[in-house]
Amino acid sequence: MSDYPVHVEIEHKVHLIRGANRARFPEANALLIDDEVLTLVDAGASRNHIVTTLKDLGHKPEDIDRIVLSHFHIDHKGHASHFQEVSGCTVMSHPSADHGIKTLDGLIDFYGIKTHRFFDQWRYFIEARLPHVISDYRVDEHFEDGKPIDCGEVELIPIHAPGHSVDHTCFGINGYDTILLVDIDLTRFGPWYGNKVSDITQFKETMKRIIELEPKTGISSHLLDPVTENLRERLIDFDAAFDQRDKRILELISQGHDTIENLSQVPAIYPRIPHEVFLTFEEIMLEKHVDILSEKGLILIEDGRLQVQKA
Ligand SMILES: [Zn+2]
Repeated sequence: MSDYPVHVEIEHKVHLIRGANRARFPEANALLIDDEVLTLVDAGASRNHIVTTLKDLGHKPEDIDRIVLSHFHIDHKGHASHFQEVSGCTVMSHPSADHGIKTLDGLIDFYGIKTHRFFDQWRYFIEARLPHVISDYRVDEHFEDGKPIDCGEVELIPIHAPGHSVDHTCFGINGYDTILLVDIDLTRFGPWYGNKVSDITQFKETMKRIIELEPKTGISSHLLDPVTENLRERLIDFDAAFDQRDKRILELISQGHDTIENLSQVPAIYPRIPHEVFLTFEEIMLEKHVDILSEKGLILIEDGRLQVQKA
């Protein structure tokens, strides 16, 4: 068990279930809404943490009425298929999430990694570390952007927030003062957009929209505590990473790192590459920056070689 409390009540009837290993990927936090409709939001915290939270609040896994999934990623859909089997609960997602959630093939397609040279290693990593996400998942209902999900006393308001992934959705809790920010995760790493269905331009628009909502509390899927201090600044800093990375990539290109592969070896975005599987995501993110920099006329691409365009 963890060296920190597994769950904490953050609002009346709203409990944060902390992921194991300080909620670092491939763990993530979840929420349990202990209300008329017993609702789990995401299911990627360790199964032990989810079951312990249920027990401490006088429930069992069989009692879950509904699972709401923020997006298709493995650290979020996590144990949803197991808990659905045990409880017969309803699973809800954004309509655009279906393909990525329902099957592993759909997820791989959304990742856009099938043809990548480290695909076999990724597949091995999933089979070894996260065998539970290989199963098929059922999605029974879709939520709509802005249409509240009624849990009894608590209301979850879906805020479709694409960019991290096409289906990525944040949730206002009884309004927008408290927002489950999901993978606008406010970690030091910054924004992650390493899938085919990720988009930097959409991510920036999402950041603008969230900042304009002026939340007072932001719940990250990968930080143990909700962020209440300087939340606005934290969101602005998080958003600033896109431009900082553009700048760094331009600098590296001008220093002679003139291919995506070469840039990924530095690496340019990840502070370090913990496992070669992550080079896949580093390269996909780099490709997105390179596309934007080339559209802006800041770089030239000739035979796959990158060159900074002189002003
Ligand atoms: Zn994610």
